[in-house]
Amino acid sequence: MAIVGFIGLGMMGREMAALHVAAGHRVQVFDVSVERMRELAQKGAITTSCVAEAADGVDVVVTMLPDTSQVVEVITMKGGLLSNPPAGRLLIDMSTIAPLATRQLAAKLEQAGIAMLDAPVSGGPTGAKAAKLSIMVGGTKEAFERAKPILTVMGTSVIHVGPSGAGQTVKACNQLICAMNIQAVCEGIALGRAAGLDVEMLREVLLGGAAASWMLQNLGPQIIAKDDRAGFRIDLQLKDLRLAAELAFELGVPLPGTALATSLYLEARAHGEGSNGNQALFRVYDRMTAQETEGSSNER
Ligand code: NAD
Repeated sequence: MAIVGFIGLGMMGREMAALHVAAGHRVQVFDVSVERMRELAQKGAITTSCVAEAADGVDVVVTMLPDTSQVVEVITMKGGLLSNPPAGRLLIDMSTIAPLATRQLAAKLEQAGIAMLDAPVSGGPTGAKAAKLSIMVGGTKEAFERAKPILTVMGTSVIHVGPSGAGQTVKACNQLICAMNIQAVCEGIALGRAAGLDVEMLREVLLGGAAASWMLQNLGPQIIAKDDRAGFRIDLQLKDLRLAAELAFELGVPLPGTALATSLYLEARAHGEGSNGNQALFRVYDRMTAQETEGSSNER
């Protein structure tokens, strides 16, 4: 059984850390929120008071943090992982962050004899709870082989996609496809609704044909029920669209579809939807079609 340090116990991290407890691993957790750590302690994890304590004596540290700046912080700050490495000298960052920053961090850690993998995920909190995440891993083959028993606790598709940063690059592609896909789902439902169709029937029929998608399957019911509760927040999707745009700019690749989706997400955030779920993008279509926007089941 492994000893795992787990940092970041939000919507995703809390489910993923719980899987390691259930797998019989000793799990040392840290989050800036004491309440989130308490929740994990009730499941059998060991709470700690700082990053260094979470990393103390572990085989591997897993980070699941919001954005690049938090990952940079927990690695490079005084008391961070660079100066307090895990005993197994392996770090798996499963957050979605910038590929360039990932490569820079991995190089810095490598100089200190610590291997870093970027291993962002797709599948949301439901996929995490069910241990069915899709995990795209960048880094050395040797580090990947060492990390595999840890990663397979959390995912069914665990694929080494290339050197450091490659996992984050795959994830950027994943996220722009997801954003445009949910936009397409919202647009189709908005048109069907305006035409007087039964939108539940519409979803059922579409799921049987070429318009079927993960978004229609999983977020369609929440769109129809006006349930804005977050699995994946609008704010985090905007962060991911920013990461994709930065990468595209660096490479000189135009992303016209992503630019349009980003504008709609910005409109949603400007209307206070930032902490609502991704499916609240439908609110933009509510506003554009002058529909009643009351009735959200999410408390704002
Ligand atoms: P979240 O905001 O719910 O959780 C982040 C956690 O990190 C919070 O508990 C926060 O308190 C903690 N944290 C922040 N700064 C910290 C620090 N310096 N030290 C310790 N803890 C700190 O986010 P989430 O939805 O769990 O997402 C985490 C990452 O996974 C993000 O990069 C996100 O883009 C990605 N992701 C999310 C989903 C999803 O559906 N929610 C799906 C795939 C990938």
